[in-house]
Amino acid sequence: KSFKSTDGAGRYQVSFRDIGGQDSAIQELREALDFIKNHQTLKRLGIRPLKGILLTGPPGTGKTLMAKAAASYTEAVFVAASGSEFIEMYAGVGAQRVRKLFQTAREDAERQHKTNAIIFIDEIEILGGKRGQTTSHLEYDQTLNQLLVEMDGLRMEDSVRVLLVAATNRADMLDPALLRPGRFDRRVKVDLPDKEGRKVILNLHTRNKPLGEDVKLDVIARETFGFSGAHLESLSNEAAILAMREGSKEICQHHFNESIDKVMMGGKLDKRPSK
Ligand code: ATP
Repeated sequence: KSFKSTDGAGRYQVSFRDIGGQDSAIQELREALDFIKNHQTLKRLGIRPLKGILLTGPPGTGKTLMAKAAASYTEAVFVAASGSEFIEMYAGVGAQRVRKLFQTAREDAERQHKTNAIIFIDEIEILGGKRGQTTSHLEYDQTLNQLLVEMDGLRMEDSVRVLLVAATNRADMLDPALLRPGRFDRRVKVDLPDKEGRKVILNLHTRNKPLGEDVKLDVIARETFGFSGAHLESLSNEAAILAMREGSKEICQHHFNESIDKVMMGGKLDKRPSK
């Protein structure tokens, strides 16, 4: 298994403008990232560098998007992994993968002449859960220990400055060692969007779609309480599919109305709809 970096988001760069309904989370994240951008000042004042940012919140709310936007914002290479990729039956393999992940980030940044790298680990609770609580805990502890070692080894004067961004919807499960100062000491909550947020997200996901005159995004936003950004993306897509099936040139309000039910039935709302 090897890791690959992308510049921001692979095919296209995600920016904070592509993320709806998360203004305060974005603001907090940006402030943390400005720290990294101003590393000369930090160095001068002897401020401890920021090594890790933890994004917490329910699935499908835009945590991955935020990590990608963070990479664009800091002109960093972006390397993504999921906590489950580090859980192995064989001793040492998980720890080896953690080493490889950091190595990939550094090498790819150097190759692309970039001084920043962002490593994104989704579902960090799988790799960074409380120690001694899983069945194969010896191997698992080694993996988590390796992550801690790598984080402790990050230095501001490194030729490639690495920042870890991790996401979880189970922050309560994390090993306290991960949350200590100098590790993931910045936490940003990424919650489900409110009505206004849902409207912004609907706007984003319908901006390139032909909408009928009767479509009222604020009404749809009102009717979709509990929907995540991923649900709203799925809703916009389902409505377009319905319109196509009916041979309609535009997506109309009733296409949305019917799709709301479909997306709701597609899974409990605390689960991410199938992609
Ligand atoms: P998970 O915890 O399940 O990995 P996540 O919080 O990382 O979920 P993303 O992967 O960022 O969620 O979101 C999935 C998709 O849902 C995005 O690619 C995007 O299309 C849509 N989406 C989610 N949140 C937002 C948002 N706030 N604004 C716009 N689109 C969003």
